Parts: sequence; C-alpha cells; structure tokens
Amino acid sequence: MSAATPVLTGLMQHDVPLTIGSLLRRMRTVNATSEVVGYGATGSTRATFLEVAERADRLGGALRALGVAEGDRVATLAWNAQEHLEAYVAIPSLGAVLHTVNLRMTPDQMTYVINHGAARILIVHRSLLPLLEAVADGLETLEHLVLVGPGPEPGDALARFTQHDYEEALAAATPIAAWPDVDDRAGAALCYTSGTTGNPKGVLYSHRSSVLHAMAAGMADTLAVTSGDRVLPIVPMFHANAWGLPYAAALVGASLVFVGHDMSPATISGAIAAERVTIAAGVPTIWMDLLRYAQEHDVDVSSLRFAPCGGAAVPRALFEGFEQTLGAEIVHAWGMTETSPLGAVARVPDDVTGEERWSLKLSQGRIAPMVEARLIDDDGAEVPWDGESSGELQVRGPWIASGYYLDEQASADAIDDGWLRTGDIATIDERGYLRLTDRAKDIIKSGGEWISSVELEGELLAHPAVAEAAVVAAPHERWTERPLACVVLAPGAEVTPAELRTFLAGRVAKWWVPEFFTFIDEVPKTSVGKFDKKVLRARLADGDLDVAVCEEAIATA
Ligand code: AMP
Repeated sequence: MSAATPVLTGLMQHDVPLTIGSLLRRMRTVNATSEVVGYGATGSTRATFLEVAERADRLGGALRALGVAEGDRVATLAWNAQEHLEAYVAIPSLGAVLHTVNLRMTPDQMTYVINHGAARILIVHRSLLPLLEAVADGLETLEHLVLVGPGPEPGDALARFTQHDYEEALAAATPIAAWPDVDDRAGAALCYTSGTTGNPKGVLYSHRSSVLHAMAAGMADTLAVTSGDRVLPIVPMFHANAWGLPYAAALVGASLVFVGHDMSPATISGAIAAERVTIAAGVPTIWMDLLRYAQEHDVDVSSLRFAPCGGAAVPRALFEGFEQTLGAEIVHAWGMTETSPLGAVARVPDDVTGEERWSLKLSQGRIAPMVEARLIDDDGAEVPWDGESSGELQVRGPWIASGYYLDEQASADAIDDGWLRTGDIATIDERGYLRLTDRAKDIIKSGGEWISSVELEGELLAHPAVAEAAVVAAPHERWTERPLACVVLAPGAEVTPAELRTFLAGRVAKWWVPEFFTFIDEVPKTSVGKFDKKVLRARLADGDLDVAVCEEAIATA
C-alpha cells in the first residue's frame, strides 16, 4: 500500500471482548430481575439473575481459594439446575474452563473424559455419586469434590478426595469483586462427544464462540430467545451446553426453568403449565412421551410459543400430534456438539402453506446465519444445492469446531481444509434448507445419546456362539433409534436373544443392550471386505429381515 493511501478504519467499534464475564455482568444489571426456577412437583426453588450472579461471585471465590487458575478445567457432573448455571457463568469468568461431564456415558468413557479434561475439581450432585464411585479408582487428576444438593454422602471409594459442601463453600467464600479480563478466544467450556470408535472427543468452546452463539440463538429465524421468554431446557446441560440456551438466556434476560433429573412427561408438562414456559427444548423422545401422556391426562402447554426439537430426526406424526392434540408448534433443528450446536433451524415463512410448509418444517432446517455449509460426494467433489444431490455435510463458522481438544488424530480425521466433516449425508435446496438422508458415521442415536455399534459388535463377538455380528440402527417410535443386532451363528451353535441380552448386560451400559435381533447367514460385505450396513438397513426397511423382539427384563447371570 502506498503512503498516499490512508487505511480507513471504522470509528464505530470498541473492541470489547465477547466473554462469558460479559454475560455475567448482564445478569446482575439489565437482566437482574429475570429468574431461575427449579421446578419440582412438590415444591420449587426461585432466584433472580442478580442472586445467581452474586452466588457466582462466591463460587468464583471458593474455586480460586482451591487454587483454580486461568486455563484450568473445572468439571461438573450435574443435572439442569441453578447451581449448574452458577458454574456455567463463574468458571469461565475466572478464565478457567467449564468441563461438563455427560452422565449417560459408560464408566470407561466417563473415566476417559474426566482424565483427559484433567480437572482437579469436580462439582457433583449427590444423587450422581454412585456413577462417580464406579469410576473412582481410575481417576488420575481429581483432588476435590464439591457436593451439591440432597442425597447420600460419598462412600469409601471417594474417601481419597477432599470433600466440600457447595453451600458451605459459598457461605465461607470471599466473593470475587473484580473478575479478571479474559481473552475471548480462550477456552470457556469443554464438552465431549462419543464417536464411532475410539475415545470420546473433546469440543472446546471459546468465550467468543459461546457469546456469538448466544446472540445467534436470539435471532427470530433461529431459536428466537427474547427477554420476555421463559425457557425450559430439557436437553441436558452436559450435552452441547443445553443447546446454548443458558448463555442465550443470560444474554437476553429470558427466565430459565429447570426440572433437574425428572424428565417425566408429568413433571415437564407440570413445569410448563405452572411456570408459563414459552420455549421448551428437547429431543424427539421427550416430546413423544409427552404426547402419549397427553392422550390420558389433562395437559396445558398453551403458554408455549414453540418447542425446538432436534438431535434426531423428528417424525411428521410428532409435529402433527403436537399441533392437533396440544395446540403447540414444534420447530425442527439440526446441530452437533461440534457446532455449539446451532447449525440449522426449520423456520418457515408465513406465506408458505400446505404441503410445501410441511416439507420445510420436516427438513432439518435452514442453514443458520454465519454458518457456511457444503456437500461433498464420495469423489471429494462439491455437489450443488438443488435439493436432490446428496453428499457429506461439511460446515464452518464462528461457533463450529476446528478440531478436537488435544486429539490430533481425531482432528485430522474430522477437518477437511478447515471444514468440519459432520458424518451426516444430506441435500440442501436452493434456499438453504437442509435434509439429512443418511449417516456416514456408524453409530446409533437412542433417546438423544449415542450407542456405539462397533463396541456392541465387539461384545457380541465375545460370545462363543457368535461368529459374526453387525449392529445397525432400527427406527423406533419412542427412542428414534434402537440397536438391531444382526448375528451370524458359529457352526452348530445355538443361542437365544434373551441369552445374548443377559451376556451383554454385564459388559455394556444397560440402555445399550439391543431388544431387536436377527439371525442371518452372513453379514453383507463391500468390495474391500467391510461390513456393508447400507444393505442391512435396506433389508430392514424392505421387511426382508426376520426380526425377533425381546423386551423382557434381562435375567441376571
Ligand atoms: P450430538 O453431537 O450428540 O448432538 O449429535 C449430533 C448428530 O445428531 C448429528 O451429526 C446428526 O447425526 C444427529 N442429529 C442432530 N440433529 C438432527 C436432526 N434434526 N435430524 C436428524 N439427525 C440429527
């Protein structure tokens, strides 16, 4: 540039860091009177955002007294609750990283993620101590437990950790009077997602990505969270930060309603009615349960503006049932832990009606603002957005992961020239509406959480009667998907589904154990000898597989 050409710099911007600390400031000022409700059928708790912010000041002080420094991870093992929100704002505001541990993971996965995150301190709800006791021996970095809520005290397995009561720690703490300045590109929150094979992978959200995501969640074309809303995140705070709703609420001043561990339809509908909830977000299984419940009980969800639903494909029957039985609207959305998770939301312009409206509502949604998407076919070529051509969906943007936390191999596998490979096969139409048509990743999503088909296959193979086993997702009305075990018997061997279930129950999480089995002569293979699960899925869809359903309780061996 020649000296004669002045650089024109805008005069409008003030380079304020986009930090979780700025959300905390808003909670104690503009949004001070918004509230956080812990709804329970027998009684509710209530606090204003100002009170939450003041308790966060104390939590920050307590954590600092335990030696938490910038960049340290502080873990949580907790339900959706006020204390968890306090951790959500206090830990990142210290410059530390909130590491939410997914309590649905298997003991091996949980051990891995706690060790990999390497937190010294875990904030844990007492009701979840049995999960922690089961993995205690393998925990390498943990030193302190901060115990929240009612429930039994820790058993002997946890005796080597220093134990603190959450409320006592807050009462004794010197509140933080001036929170530190934090680099907005530094890590704020860490969340692990389980993959097809290997260990879970950590997604590290930055302050900036979290704040931009919260702003995006306030857009009318996405989750439309506003100051007048009362938001019930049923989606857990340990899974993709409850879809970013706590931070969005902190930013705009929407009140938050939590139901803790009780995700029964009675409690959810009770919370919606009593607290006049306007936005309630959950996976399809939650809403299927509510719909079934509403057939036999009086349910009043008239306060709902809409219910965002995603994490798995939403069947048309659910949309229709919601509209007809409950008079409420479901809005379909697509996202991943790696996308913070806002990726696409199926908002339909008012002037689109009839079947076209249905077609758009059933799509996974219109690619969200600031998110870029492309479709890549098997030859690595980009395919057009014509609503017909399909390819693997790849995305990038300010709140899309550019790699995995301390995992070079997983990062290299997932990132293609700066774009995140989602493992979802999709079409996109000319207006940017996304439709998932298949899944390249070999994994099963049941009730919103992942089951590893590869791991189930390995465990089935360990049974002496099994020569080969392939596990594929079978569509399921309540859970969206359940595992179907396709088993090839060893020559001359015999085994029943019930026996295989008993065998598996001791080796994998109970909710992973399939209830669907089919015995086949051989597993179809691709030209390079890999299991061809597309063929199995097609046979299942065409009714060509003889499927045995075994739902009886698992006999203890
Ligand atoms: P997770 O990281 O556990 O939230 O899982 C993300 C994955 O869930 C996506 O890559 C999809 O495979 C699946 N998923 C999320 N939303 C939808 C949706 N609306 N329809 C179908 N599958 C979905």
